[in-house]
Amino acid sequence: MSNSPGLSFANADTWRGKIFNGEWVAASGVLDVIEPASGQPLHQVGKATREDVAIAVREARAAQRLWAATPPRERAAVFHRAAALLEQHASAAAALIARETGGILPKGEHEVRESIVLLQRAAAMPLEANGRVLPSVPGRLSIARQLPLGVIGVISPFNFPLVLSLRSVAPALAVGNAVVLKPDPRTPYAGGFVIAEVLAAAGLPKGLLHVLPGGADVGQALVEAPGVPMLAFTGSTAAGRKIGELAGGHLKKVSLELGGKNSLIVLEGADLDKAVSAIAFGAWFHQGQICMATGRVLAHRSVAEALTRRLADKARHLPVGDPALAQVALGPIIDQRQLQNVVDIVGASVAAGAVIEAGGTHEGLFYAPTVLSNVKPGMRAFDEEAFGPVASVISFDTDEEAVELANRTEYGLSAGVISASVGRAMALGERLHTGLLHINDQTVADEVINPFGGIGSSGNGTSVGGPADWEQYTHWQWVTIKEAVPLHPF
Ligand code: NAD
Repeated sequence: MSNSPGLSFANADTWRGKIFNGEWVAASGVLDVIEPASGQPLHQVGKATREDVAIAVREARAAQRLWAATPPRERAAVFHRAAALLEQHASAAAALIARETGGILPKGEHEVRESIVLLQRAAAMPLEANGRVLPSVPGRLSIARQLPLGVIGVISPFNFPLVLSLRSVAPALAVGNAVVLKPDPRTPYAGGFVIAEVLAAAGLPKGLLHVLPGGADVGQALVEAPGVPMLAFTGSTAAGRKIGELAGGHLKKVSLELGGKNSLIVLEGADLDKAVSAIAFGAWFHQGQICMATGRVLAHRSVAEALTRRLADKARHLPVGDPALAQVALGPIIDQRQLQNVVDIVGASVAAGAVIEAGGTHEGLFYAPTVLSNVKPGMRAFDEEAFGPVASVISFDTDEEAVELANRTEYGLSAGVISASVGRAMALGERLHTGLLHINDQTVADEVINPFGGIGSSGNGTSVGGPADWEQYTHWQWVTIKEAVPLHPF
């Protein structure tokens, strides 16, 4: 691990039994974090309570008032320093993220690389224009400006924890809010403590960022806490629905980025070698534990058989194992509960007539890359998000049928169309109901500066990232100014 003098980075001793409130403080309980690949304890963090949430919100509110009044250049400088620090310590951070999440090292490195961009983009935000001058009656200046909301609650999942936490934490702080972050209890370093380390070292004033590892009870306390006007949640549709209901009852703003069941359509005439490579990445990268994963492969009947054969062959040749011990393509599923979900979905689909062309087996948490054929609407592999390395191939005859199959889902996150004709792929793609659409590529993509969000059960219509961020983490205030009070009719 590379550490600069005076800064110990990615060192588990720093946070053993602790939570973060600007400093590392002992918690009343502890959480053992298990490394998915080895099944062994990796490190131990503090376990937050509802009381910790109340304290964090109180401290965050006090710190936020000063932060919002801090000159924009000073706020920007914190994020410039944080980006540089993360770059300096990238390899140590990536290695620990990979081990904690069960990902291959390139996936950990990817998260860090993207997060450096998120911090650089956050550094730009305080220096951007944040309002408009509106036409008004003569003698009245009418402006609309975007003000920070106050304290933002961020709740994030286990799969890409650093990016999915930071994509809300960084812009929310940059525009003048404070943040209370609750990472998934299985990935508290990747989803929280690495952010605490870089921002604290970069000089973020104490009290503006709190990291409270804990389960659904802690998340719920954050949603209910008076003094938190907005929640940014990324996770399952089931949890998102509960959070949305609870937040609605408290009249809070809430951004919900949820699950997906994403289709990649392969038209006749497509380059099958490239299509297979795209599907393999889209369906199996990070063991399919990605909201945008290519869960359905809709193949034109003329290519379906050849595509399935080549995909199954690819699946059989991809190495699966502990990423810390060997160069593998797939690591473990995060835990037993998630593994069981994959086993159940595949089992129920096979019982209903689906055919396993490759995989469908597991050793411990290591689930083999899997190809299912003969999958039909109504089967669990067609309808449900597996969050495992399962590609279901479904054939179609006409573009009309492809559109109908792709749209036959409650979700609406991502879709892809692969075709030798960009025009035909575009015409087809425009009829798909998704927040993300990739022509001649698979379904997994995020450049962190694009607006990212789904429709249907994939979210509540919000987006995060790039141009969407100002709208997300601020509220509008309309201001009018006159030289003197006018006379009114009454
Ligand atoms: P999850 O919903 O179980 O957990 C996500 C986070 O929410 C965790 O921090 C968890 O502790 C917390 N949580 C759970 N129930 C809660 C409740 N009732 N109140 C408050 N907090 C609660 O999600 P998961 O299964 O761990 O993650 C995978 C899911 O996340 C998949 O469905 C995936 O598609 C989705 N996801 C979506 C995106 C996106 O941007 N749309 C990105 C990544 C993952």
